[in-house]
Amino acid sequence: MRIRAAVLHQPGTPVTVEEVELDGPKADEVLVRVAAAGVCHSDVHLADGALGPNRWPMVLGHEGAGVVEAVGERVTHVAPGDRVAFSFVPSCGACRACRAGRRNLCEPAGRNAFAGRLMDGTSRLRMPDGTVLQHGLMTACFAERTVVAAAGAVPLDADIPLWQAALLGCGVVTGAGAVRNTAGVRLGDTVVVIGCGGVGLQVVAAAALAGAGRVVAVDRDHAKLEMASARGATAGVDASDGEDLVKRIRAAAGGAPDWAFEVIGRADTMRLAWDVLRPGGTAIVVGLAPAGVEVSLPAIEFLSEKSIKGCYYGSTDVADELSRLVRLVAAGRLPLADVISRVSDLDGAEDALERLRRGEGARTVLVMDRELAQVPDSVP
Ligand SMILES: [Zn+2]
Ligand SMILES: [Zn+2]
Repeated sequence: MRIRAAVLHQPGTPVTVEEVELDGPKADEVLVRVAAAGVCHSDVHLADGALGPNRWPMVLGHEGAGVVEAVGERVTHVAPGDRVAFSFVPSCGACRACRAGRRNLCEPAGRNAFAGRLMDGTSRLRMPDGTVLQHGLMTACFAERTVVAAAGAVPLDADIPLWQAALLGCGVVTGAGAVRNTAGVRLGDTVVVIGCGGVGLQVVAAAALAGAGRVVAVDRDHAKLEMASARGATAGVDASDGEDLVKRIRAAAGGAPDWAFEVIGRADTMRLAWDVLRPGGTAIVVGLAPAGVEVSLPAIEFLSEKSIKGCYYGSTDVADELSRLVRLVAAGRLPLADVISRVSDLDGAEDALERLRRGEGARTVLVMDRELAQVPDSVP
């Protein structure tokens, strides 16, 4: 079938919305009519060619939600008409990582996501001239419709509007999982969150929900610090002035923190996360750094049992985590609308990437169909 989709032809050139061909779902795959998709900084990295070579031409988009239209053979967990959110790691359940309970690190899913293919190693997307298109992180949801691996379509069993559910599959799972699974924040712990964009704000909310005693938000942007405070940050530190930053963060935290989450993906902020920690504290790197970035640490400080830990997609079984987080959203305990700084349509994809490059706003949501996405009239 022919659909409209946002295509990256070449890094450094604008993403263009055009008509492409989408084949129907094969076995273990699902066709989804996309209602809405969130624009994430990883999309910017992909569009800028910063996540490695040969990752184009590609249909971008890896967090979103929609309604199932058709299912391939052997698919039993969803049926046409079901509302779903996407997971960009459709775990196989059989590889070594999956068997060890680390389904976010599923080996075939990682390999195929990097190659821009679905789980059988092929693509359902091509240009009208036959050129094969890659599926952005196995999701390719900057599009009217998409075909994803069955395990990548997670049913939403609570009634939350799809324009908000669109954020679950990357930012929310990543932020909540970083706090709960990668770190394991305990009641009363002190948490610092460096970078309060779309994912950082979810880390703040999750730390507050986990019962952290203090949650210090660090960002250069005042609007983001205000959003962080609305989501449970107990203090905000303006990082636009780099002077005495470690000292100011520690003062706001009432001392050196137990946990520092880096949610930007830069060497200097990873180092900052390390520097603020108390002895025995842990820095969690959530931010995605462009390929080639290296970080250096004062090695003598390992003597104080500080650690630094990587985090990918919330360190968990994404489908399971996502379906539990939906209940928190439905119960009003994890509001999502307030992190959406702009609602646009598919044609706004390049603008949304540009705003992220400039560090503006938290999250843009591209809405393919306002009615399907349940966007209220009060939202412009
Ligand atoms: Zn993302
Ligand atoms: Zn696996």
